[in-house]
Amino acid sequence: MAWTFYTDEQKQLAERYRLAAREHIAPRVREVDENDRLPQNLLERLVKPPFSLTALSVPKKFGGLEMSKVDVCIVAEEMGYALPCLVPFLEIAQLYTHVLKYAGTENQQKRFLEKLATGAKGCYALTDEGPGSDPTAMKTTAKRDGDFFVLRGKKRLITFADIADLFAIFATEDPSLGADGISAFIVEKGTPGLNLAYHCKALGLMGHRAWDMDIEDVRVPVENRIGERGDGLRLAFKVLNKTRISLSFGYVGLARAAIEKAVEFARTRVVQGRPISEHQAISFAIADAAIKVEAARLLAYRAAVLSDKTDRHRKETSMAKAYAAEALIDAVNVENRVLGGYGGDGRYDAERHLRDAYSWISAQGTIEVQKVIAGREILGG
Ligand SMILES: Cc1cc2nc3c(=O)[nH]c(=O)nc-3n(C[C@H](O)[C@H](O)[C@H](O)COP(=O)(O)OP(=O)(O)OC[C@H]3O[C@@H](n4cnc5c(N)ncnc54)[C@H](O)[C@@H]3O)c2cc1C
Repeated sequence: MAWTFYTDEQKQLAERYRLAAREHIAPRVREVDENDRLPQNLLERLVKPPFSLTALSVPKKFGGLEMSKVDVCIVAEEMGYALPCLVPFLEIAQLYTHVLKYAGTENQQKRFLEKLATGAKGCYALTDEGPGSDPTAMKTTAKRDGDFFVLRGKKRLITFADIADLFAIFATEDPSLGADGISAFIVEKGTPGLNLAYHCKALGLMGHRAWDMDIEDVRVPVENRIGERGDGLRLAFKVLNKTRISLSFGYVGLARAAIEKAVEFARTRVVQGRPISEHQAISFAIADAAIKVEAARLLAYRAAVLSDKTDRHRKETSMAKAYAAEALIDAVNVENRVLGGYGGDGRYDAERHLRDAYSWISAQGTIEVQKVIAGREILGG
C-alpha cells in the first residue's frame, strides 16, 4: 500500500522493502516464531542489501546509507508488518548510530560506525535491575582504574545480547549524583565479565531474544566512554527521542497486518448466509481500529519530519509512541474478536499478532511513561 502523502521516492522505498520482505522474510515467519531465534542465514541477509538493517542511518562516509528519519520509519513499518522482531533489530543499530553521532569522537565514530555499516550487531543495556522506567535509580557502577573503567551490575531485558558484537552499557560513575553520574560505554564482544544470566522468555515478539545480564568487573578502556562523565543519561534520552519514532512506525506496521487479516476474514467468513463484514458491529470495530492506526502513522510521521529538522520534538515523539502502542493493542484485539474462535488458533496469524503486540508495547518506555513525558511538555514542570 502506498500512502498518498509520501513522495514518489518514499513510495518506491516502501515498495522495495515490502517486496524484499515478501520474498525473503515472509516464508521464515513461522520458523522464527516457533524457535524464538533469527536463523543465521536470515541474519546474514538482513545486514546486506536490499535490507542493510544495521546501516540505515550510518553516515555515508562510514559506509552507511545515511537515510533520513522519515525513510528509516518507512523501513520500520515494513519490517513491523513482515516480522516485528526485525524492528528491535534495526532499532538497536539506530540507538548506536545516534549515540555515536551525538557524542562520539571522530575516532569512536570511525571505529564503531564502520563496523555497523558492515553488519556488526549491537545491544543496548540501559534498563537496570532497579525500576526500569527510572534509570536515575541505576545501580550498575563504573569505577576508574588507571586506563580502564571497571563495570559491575545487573541489566534487564537486553535485546539481542546473545548475538551482539558491541554492547552499549550505561553505568553510574557516582551514584550520589543520580542522573548526573551516569555515563555511556561501548564494550566489545568477548570482553571477560559480560555474562548472559537469563533468557527472558516472552509471550511473543519471538526472535528478539532479550536477556538479563550480569556485568562482573568488565574492564573497558577509558577511550570507550562515549561523551563526558555524567553525560550518559541525557544522551540516552536524546537518542530515545529519535528511536521511539521509528518504533512507533513498527507498531503501525504490525497493526496494519492485523487489520488486513481482520478485513480478509470478515469478508470471507459467512455466518447464517451473510459475510460477517455486513454486520455493523464488525465493520465499525474494524473502522475504529483502522482510524486509530492511520492517525498513529500521521502522528509518528509528524515527529519524523520534525526529527529530520531539529532535536526539539519530545512532545511529538512521546505522543506518537503512546498513541501507536494503544492503536496496536486495539488493532490486535479487534482482529482476534473478529476471528471469533479462530482468534486464538495458532494456525492463524491473529494469535501471533496478539502475542507480539503485548510483548512489545513497553520497549523503549511504557505507554504511561510516554504520557508522563507528554504531560510535562504540555503542562510544564
Ligand atoms: C520487548 C522489550 C525489549 C526491551 N529491550 C531492551 C533493551 O534492549 N535494552 C534495555 O535497556 N531495555 C530494554 N527493555 C526494557 C524496557 O525499556 C523497560 O521494560 C521499560 O522501560 C519499562 O521498565 P520496567 O519493565 O522495569 O517497568 P517498571 O518501570 O517497573 O513499570 C511498571 C509499571 O509502572 C508504570 N510506571 C512506571 N513509572 C511510572 C510513572 N512515573 N507514572 C505512571 N506509571 C508508571 C509503567 O508504565 C508500568 O505500567 C525492553 C523491554 C521490552 C518489553
